Amino acid sequence: MKKLILLFVLISYFNIHAQYWTSPDGITEIASTSINDIAIAKFDSKGNPIIIYNPIIANKLGAEVSAFFRAHEYGHHYLGHVLNQNHPNPNIRLWLTRNAESEADAYAVRYHISMNNINVLKKTYNTFMNQNHPGDRTHLPSRIRAQNIASLYFNITGNQL
Ligand SMILES: [Zn+2]
Repeated sequence: MKKLILLFVLISYFNIHAQYWTSPDGITEIASTSINDIAIAKFDSKGNPIIIYNPIIANKLGAEVSAFFRAHEYGHHYLGHVLNQNHPNPNIRLWLTRNAESEADAYAVRYHISMNNINVLKKTYNTFMNQNHPGDRTHLPSRIRAQNIASLYFNITGNQL
């Protein structure tokens, strides 16, 4: 029964999310309910880029916000951030990781503007504002992330989000 529910969640996830995101070749997406986050970008043991996502959290956040995070994770791969996590100096690693989060958000904003998915950006903005998460060692407070999304959107389009 549990497996059946997971299967249903996965099917609805792909149906809903296909609307906002077409995965490019070369990066494998793997569903896992064991990660405590919507998604993470990493390499598998053979060195292939993968994205692990939690379909339950994705469904809770909804199609638009999930599409934002999907682009965010692809951004981590395309911008070389995952390699940075192997930097031997922990201070440099932390600095690189902090910058990487903002850069991946910016990547997702640019991607969704290019696809005209303005609802994705609006809903992500609202979610970050409502979460009011204080942030942590590597993530800015969620309201700052929301404001960064809105100001990049304004810089590119000349419109308020
Ligand atoms: Zn990230």
